[in-house]
Amino acid sequence: MDSELIAKFPFLEEARQFVDDSGADIAELITSPSYEPARARGVQRITDALAHSEVSYVPMVRASEYDRLMEVLSYPYARMIVSAVGDRFLTKRYALAEAVRMNRILVGEGRENTIEVSEQLNAPSTADADGIMRIRFTDYLRLANRMKSVDWKLINSDIHSGLVYLPQEKFSRLMQNALQDRIESELPLMTPDEFKPYLRGDINKVEMALAETKARFSPTGGEGMKIEFCPPCINHLLEMSRQGVNLPHSARFALVTFLSALGLSYDQIITIFSESPDFDESIAGYQIKHITGELSGGEAYTPPECATMKTNGICYNPDKICEQEWMTHPLKYYRFKSKPRRDGQPSRDAGGKSPTDARKKGA
Ligand code: SF4
Repeated sequence: MDSELIAKFPFLEEARQFVDDSGADIAELITSPSYEPARARGVQRITDALAHSEVSYVPMVRASEYDRLMEVLSYPYARMIVSAVGDRFLTKRYALAEAVRMNRILVGEGRENTIEVSEQLNAPSTADADGIMRIRFTDYLRLANRMKSVDWKLINSDIHSGLVYLPQEKFSRLMQNALQDRIESELPLMTPDEFKPYLRGDINKVEMALAETKARFSPTGGEGMKIEFCPPCINHLLEMSRQGVNLPHSARFALVTFLSALGLSYDQIITIFSESPDFDESIAGYQIKHITGELSGGEAYTPPECATMKTNGICYNPDKICEQEWMTHPLKYYRFKSKPRRDGQPSRDAGGKSPTDARKKGA
């Protein structure tokens, strides 16, 4: 396999051989000035993931062997830094961004390379004379089960003799899922203690970028929850909890997921539930950790939409904002209310109009 191809797909087995043949080793990658470009590109892979959800593609057609080696080595370096930071959000976002990059490249690759990549991603494929890719339906189900669009339902697929036939574009998209799963399952890596001081500078850079990204994504902008921005349903549930009313499961679930999405810590959430009459820290703590994903190391549950809240009978005291057509989720309510008004005041009423705006228009 040529080095340009390895630089495109640095997760392939051949990358290991390429690096071995170059004489590079992990200690040099981390410490030697000769490998500074690989380290810088490794950090860029991660910051690209945080900023754009996609690792940028650097074409290597005319690149030297040295540049190709730096590109290949940047991949293990990025994985090392992600592992050392040890943040689940970062790991998932990085895995996705590497996989999106690969998808973008693979879609334009020839049949032979596509088959090789799929083989190494544990989803072997073949191609027919027209370039249509074929994959076992069991692999298809495994990789397509998270795709929401009806196009991906098996019933809408071209399937013969246990094989699903896919155009290159859809096939590459499936391989994106395969690579994302693989990277997530491989990380974190163990970093030997003696390397950690050398990694510290790059870990700090990534941690800063990570904190900025989290603040950007947080409905509160990283500033903590403000009660006046909460929707009436959540305020009602908080009040019930404060008064020691025993909340039904659906209400506890809605409250924990909402508070967790706003960035409240385990301690802050459990304090709220501690006023419940049947409070038992071991049970409540288990439930909170399960819902927030802390227990399983998995993904946190997302707060239910307004439609689910209504079905569960916990859409309490909806106000004018709740009546808006776009208001489908309690977090949307929070974001809307926390947007600053033109006059510098934070809160808004229905329809995006502040009370002042509404008066001006005679509403
Ligand atoms: S409409 Fe939505 S945000 Fe408003 S009270 Fe009901 S569930 Fe809460």
